[in-house]
Amino acid sequence: MVNCRLDSSTRERVRRMREVERWVDGESSHSEEVAEHVAGCATCMAYEKRLRMLRAGVAAVVRTETIGDTRFPAFMEGIRRSRAQRSWWRLSWRVLSVSTVATLVLLAGSLYTYEYLNVPDPPVVESASTDIEDGAVTSYASDNGVTTVWVVSQDNDVW
Ligand SMILES: [Zn+2]
Repeated sequence: MVNCRLDSSTRERVRRMREVERWVDGESSHSEEVAEHVAGCATCMAYEKRLRMLRAGVAAVVRTETIGDTRFPAFMEGIRRSRAQRSWWRLSWRVLSVSTVATLVLLAGSLYTYEYLNVPDPPVVESASTDIEDGAVTSYASDNGVTTVWVVSQDNDVW
């Protein structure tokens, strides 16, 4: 079995690829010979598959992109509009990201200040209440700044 990757020089391989290309396009003068070779050569078979996919893709694109002369000005206008829109979006996104960064920097600064100012103070319980029916709340602040809150329910469960 002939394999171009293993058996051929670069020049020979290019010649065969051109041959395969012509064959795929239906322009080969000795298609039977090429067909026989492709069937037995993994390299050319892969190349043929790629070419056919490419041709099919191009054909599909050409089919969908074909525009009649009467619709052409509208089509161009559509392109121009979508392009303007796209650049507008890109600009606004850039402005947005700059302001977002500014906000984050400001936020980080204020958080830092907030933490710095509040950490030294021990928490103070100013008031305490409970939703438990018939529950009683008492709080007690010790001298070392630890505040304990009791919630005593009617059943004497302590929370
Ligand atoms: Zn080959």
